[in-house]
Amino acid sequence: VEKEERKMVKICCIGAGYVGGPTMAVIALKCPTIEVVVVDISVPRITAWNSDTLPIYEPGLDDVVKQCRGKNLFFSTEVEKHVHEADIVFVSVNTPTKTRGLGAGKAADLTYWESAARMIADVSKSDKIVVEKSTVPVKTAEAIEKILTHNSKGITFQILSNPEFLAEGTAIEDLFKPDRVLIGGRETPGGQKAIQALKDVYAHWVPEGNIITTNLWSAELSKLAANAFLAQRISSVNAMSALCEATGANVTQVAYAVGKDSRIGPKFLNASVGFGGSCFQKDILNLVYICECNGLPEVAEYWKQVIKINDYQKSRFVNRVVASMFNTVSNKKVAILGFAFKKDTGDTRETPAIDVCKGLMGDNAKLSIYDPQVQEDQIQRDLSMKKFDWDHPLHLQPMSPTSVKQQVSVSMDAYGATKDAHAVCILTEWDEFKTLDFQKIYDNMQKPAFVFDGRNVVNADKLREIGFIVYSIGKPLDA
Ligand code: NAD
Repeated sequence: VEKEERKMVKICCIGAGYVGGPTMAVIALKCPTIEVVVVDISVPRITAWNSDTLPIYEPGLDDVVKQCRGKNLFFSTEVEKHVHEADIVFVSVNTPTKTRGLGAGKAADLTYWESAARMIADVSKSDKIVVEKSTVPVKTAEAIEKILTHNSKGITFQILSNPEFLAEGTAIEDLFKPDRVLIGGRETPGGQKAIQALKDVYAHWVPEGNIITTNLWSAELSKLAANAFLAQRISSVNAMSALCEATGANVTQVAYAVGKDSRIGPKFLNASVGFGGSCFQKDILNLVYICECNGLPEVAEYWKQVIKINDYQKSRFVNRVVASMFNTVSNKKVAILGFAFKKDTGDTRETPAIDVCKGLMGDNAKLSIYDPQVQEDQIQRDLSMKKFDWDHPLHLQPMSPTSVKQQVSVSMDAYGATKDAHAVCILTEWDEFKTLDFQKIYDNMQKPAFVFDGRNVVNADKLREIGFIVYSIGKPLDA
């Protein structure tokens, strides 16, 4: 009766992070008849979502949130209350790599998921659809079903897999016009009804042809497969970039020629200092673990190479910097432009900049870092963090916050960062780096002045005319 009286469908999303926040904001905007509440156990995160300074930077996000917050979009820490009232519960909690115990260094850590599932079972008094929004190992829905049904109080849960394909930096654009929405469910009448209910939500703005429905395991595995394929393209082009440098070929020309083949396509073929972000490495490691658990070591080894090439690309870059600077960067000021893992985000999770900076600090460089969206405390935290060695999970490399404080300073702009520096390393492809006044930068640097372009964003020829010695990933080297 209570349900009939309520006019609006109510969606609750557990997890107000990079995925939960933007995804739910767009659902609220596109579905004015649906009430959407995003809940999180993190008080600062929810406070930020309810303020003028959102907890994440994403182009277009402020605008979407402003349009519907307080109307049909709410952010709350009252997790249990809103889960209890919801018809559809999305779970978008973090699923990081396990750092201890069975599968350490590879397997997904599902503790946040499990506690969310147990809480859902505990507080629910009416039938619910539970949607996996987080990226999870294939077969997770089976485990979630067990937790929910064994703890349910006579009510029915339908589990759907609805993985998110948005990319940070273009999240809103991706959510407005998704290449596809993927919904996996049980092939029972109840499962199909649940799929239809979720389809009805997306049908508010996504063309029917772009909504794909599959069984649960296909949907779960497709997300891991998509991330593995994307990361593989980057590692493939980065592997080619090393060969280009060795032979005098130019990776931009090679990628263009290769990408013109319609079977291959031009996207995601930019050589770089390596991929980062919270997902690619974690999801491939997860895939590797699943392969190993299923008795497929050769397949596991195949995907491992994608990460090995990524690690190799980062160390290759560091070695190039040090070797070019007369085999030592000790006590030399090196400006780092860009710290986020890609442009248009402030996210630094798994950013290649962490490994590159640590590599240079290992050779005793003095770093001066500037990123338009990453704050000093974040950089200090990231560089002091223990790095998890996935090949040797029991060996954690200790990092000293004191040496980070001594060796690293953070600047408010690119000009401050590069003043008196011996070298500039470009680690994120921020647009503003393309239009910097490099003559001014050159004039204020030590000579010879080096530029190491890890993203191929600057015009190397122009910089050479100014007087810089330039190294661009995958390009013929300076004479
Ligand atoms: P995130 O860490 O930014 O957000 C997760 C949030 O969940 C955190 O705010 C945390 O406090 C909250 N949380 C954890 N346990 C909770 C609980 N029991 N109750 C309430 N809140 C809880 O993570 P994210 O980047 O949004 O990623 C979430 C999932 O989406 C991951 O599985 C990730 O692999 C996947 N994914 C991420 C991206 C991306 O670009 N970041 C893209 C697609 C998919």
